[in-house]
Amino acid sequence: MQLDLDYNNIVLQTISPSWLPDNIQAAVLRLDLLHPEVSGNKWFKLRYNLEAALAQGKTRILTFGGAYSNHIAATAAACQLAGIACTGVIRGERPLVLSHTLRDASAKGMELLFVSREAYRNKNETDWNALYPDAYVVPEGGNNALGAKGCEEILSSVNDPSFTHIACAVGTGTTLAGLISSADHQQEIRGYVVLKGASYLEHEILSLLPPEPLPHWQLIHQHHGGGYAKVTLTLMEFIRQFYEETNVPLDIVYTGKLIMGFRQDVLDGMYPAGSKVLLIHTGGLQGNSTNVLT
Ligand SMILES: *Cc1c(COP(=O)(O)O)cnc(C)c1O
Repeated sequence: MQLDLDYNNIVLQTISPSWLPDNIQAAVLRLDLLHPEVSGNKWFKLRYNLEAALAQGKTRILTFGGAYSNHIAATAAACQLAGIACTGVIRGERPLVLSHTLRDASAKGMELLFVSREAYRNKNETDWNALYPDAYVVPEGGNNALGAKGCEEILSSVNDPSFTHIACAVGTGTTLAGLISSADHQQEIRGYVVLKGASYLEHEILSLLPPEPLPHWQLIHQHHGGGYAKVTLTLMEFIRQFYEETNVPLDIVYTGKLIMGFRQDVLDGMYPAGSKVLLIHTGGLQGNSTNVLT
């Protein structure tokens, strides 16, 4: 059983893209380098869930996602490493041609269970243990208390309290909750939301946080770029140019929107002179179905 990945693979990379003014410093925490297949924040969300499953004597992980889900990809790879069976409940009927994400997950041994969009919507009210008595159920995106607990370890590889701001892309907010819980109290945490109109997120994140005192945190809702997984030519061009200038590859759903939103906020004066910003690269590169970097 191999549950511990090597956190020494994570690199803190200082960046100076052309649009960053001299009086603001920025660095990217490259969680995408953690592991070729269990990359990014998904490992941190899974690790205590996997431990709990094994401690409870479960023999299977069951979880949920769409055809390009980073969580499905990471779960399939992590379960293969841990030697535990897994089932991915996939939104929508089985397509004629599987996405690369589902093909890879299946090749790693994940059983794919396609369900209608309606059944998928009702997944949290479904008794999955009736179908799979030995399964430990991980919610979509690894969004639970153990997921947030694992994300408290993300900042342990930084160990630099001189960062004034920590910025991270937000889907469910589980990762952000872990960052808020573990950051120094003088740091400010900013979550760049990649979904449109996700006003429920503040409440969801609050439910994962310990009581005060906590660092100051806020969600930024105006940089979703049209909504979840909506891709524009501007975003593609931004990702390409950022790679050219920094050698940091970004994904089109999360980290591309984080850094493009960060640039806009820098230009709009939302980061005061003297800011030192830690940008969390949460991974997700497997989701780039086409090569957007060249
Ligand atoms: C899943 C994911 C996120 C969102 O994480 P949450 O904990 O759901 O907010 C951010 N970035 C990448 C690359 C992801 O795959």
